[in-house]
Amino acid sequence: KLENATAKAELGRASWKLFHTMMARFPEKPSDDDSLALKTYIQLFARLYPCGDCASHFQKLLKKFPPQTGSRNNAVGWACMVHNKVNKRLKKPEFDCNNIGDFYDCGCGDEDKEGKG
Ligand code: FAD
Repeated sequence: KLENATAKAELGRASWKLFHTMMARFPEKPSDDDSLALKTYIQLFARLYPCGDCASHFQKLLKKFPPQTGSRNNAVGWACMVHNKVNKRLKKPEFDCNNIGDFYDCGCGDEDKEGKG
């Protein structure tokens, strides 16, 4: 089947949105089990990502830059960095990771246990 660049890009935007929003909601002080869950999620995401070409590139990236899941800040910073690696390969502009602060607001309306909403 022919590649559909529009659909591929749409899938990418939706996926990155979920990816970064999940990091923004990860606990500031995760338990070992939380950290393992996120690490496992990221590995499975990379394995099962529907665009096979993207998935194999991303899996290589994870080998070079293993997921950082020791805290929310680590996870947010790591995800921003790997997305920038993908941006670079696709010749897209670099995102300033210092400005990621409130960029990914889940809009859930509930409060997490550590005071960030
Ligand atoms: P996107 O890269 O989708 O980003 C969406 C928005 O996120 C941006 O507009 C910006 O506001 C914000 N953003 C940008 N950079 C960052 C950052 N570093 N941290 C946080 N937020 C940021 N496409 C391919 O053609 N080939 C591939 O091999 C490929 N591999 C991919 C691998 C993965 C794991 C994923 C999730 C997507 C992949 N894609 C790939 C899709 C590609 O990354 C883009 O999603 C798609 O091209 C649409 O690009 P975009 O310019 O709209 O911005």
